Amino acid sequence: MTHHDPLSTRPDRTLVRISTALHPTPAQAASFAHLEAIAQACQSHMLAWYRQGGLADPSSPLSDPSPRSRVTVPAISIDDLAGICGTFFPGVSPSLVRGVASQVHRATQRYHGRTVPAETLQTGFQHVHVPLDAGIQAAGPDRVWIDGLDTTVVADLWQLPLGLTGALVNAGQAFRHGTERELGTMVRAASDGYRPALSDLDVTLRRYGALLGPQGQAWSGGPAVPARADHATLRRVTRPDRTPGWTVTWSVRIPHGWLPAVHVDDAVGVDVGLRRVLTAASGQDRWMVEGHPAIDLALAFVSVSTSALVRRSVFEKQAAELDEVLKKVLAHTVVGVERTNWTRMSGTVKGRQRVARMMMTGATSVLDWVQALSPVTGSPVVEVSPTGSSCTCSGCDQSGTVTAWQFTCGTCGHSDDADANAALVMRRRALEEAGS
Ligand SMILES: [Zn+2]
Repeated sequence: MTHHDPLSTRPDRTLVRISTALHPTPAQAASFAHLEAIAQACQSHMLAWYRQGGLADPSSPLSDPSPRSRVTVPAISIDDLAGICGTFFPGVSPSLVRGVASQVHRATQRYHGRTVPAETLQTGFQHVHVPLDAGIQAAGPDRVWIDGLDTTVVADLWQLPLGLTGALVNAGQAFRHGTERELGTMVRAASDGYRPALSDLDVTLRRYGALLGPQGQAWSGGPAVPARADHATLRRVTRPDRTPGWTVTWSVRIPHGWLPAVHVDDAVGVDVGLRRVLTAASGQDRWMVEGHPAIDLALAFVSVSTSALVRRSVFEKQAAELDEVLKKVLAHTVVGVERTNWTRMSGTVKGRQRVARMMMTGATSVLDWVQALSPVTGSPVVEVSPTGSSCTCSGCDQSGTVTAWQFTCGTCGHSDDADANAALVMRRRALEEAGS
């Protein structure tokens, strides 16, 4: 194992990107699709403008030049690029346009100032990540407010580990208080007889009405806890159980010292499942988070809000334990996790139900959290093949059998808890990969 000192290379704050599932109503989902179409159109417009070498009139539909024609790609700032769309897409949220401009700018940066064939600038944008930035705020642990929507959207924010929910809710509350102050100023101006304040008030209320509902739960916060950075993107996804859905990916600034840095010079293997949400095993220790014995899946699909309550009540039974185990796991010098393939697992009706249950306990998210938070502690994550891990002996690498959650090896006689054995197999595979 290579020696490293994560403390010497750690910055003051680490930016992590972490996702939450959204559960929109059909009307809200239609709005998301509309937002996605606008973001796509803005991207296309900006790229078409680049393909014209920046010479076209950006306020009219842009025709495509011959793909082979050579253009000198203009080197302009993100704000100027956003301005290109501003005139052609009036009424579109400025933060959305600026976010698209930022994505396009980053993707085309290496061509700025260079002369290239026009066709160079038309690839790489199949998947649109809709930038929301300041246009989305947490309105509580299970709701988000999105600029332009009349109602808040149900979101699984409560499922984020280690205080990240608090970071997002605090940022949402700060935004909301700012908006309330702004409204207060307008109301005073209107009552003083300043007529334009009335229409400003109307516009602001229409825009932020959904945000200014009942006060959400207060979360302890301060400079020493994670804080939301502005960037947030909406994405269309296929969930682990193969259902279509939407997620929002947030960037969160993690302050130095919020999680203990790597201090255990050992590798740990992580196994996730339904009976046990998480089983982790190192050379010395093992940690387990038990699953929820009875999850009534039927209850979970009554309505968007009911289903959120059921998911939350299932998850909350494990939340504190999950946090503790995640901290322990992320303190190791190597973390071995399985390269999961939920799509393959949910290939049958039974498999899909199993994955749906694992989504409720957080098991399907555990590996994402480990990956997202590993830069904070400095614990490298090694993805290993899960093939045969549940029936391979962690002692001698031969095949064994699992009966009633107990693993037994016919070759060397080793016997162990089946999930702990699987975690130890993951640990050994990670050590092999880290060493090679
Ligand atoms: Zn064996």
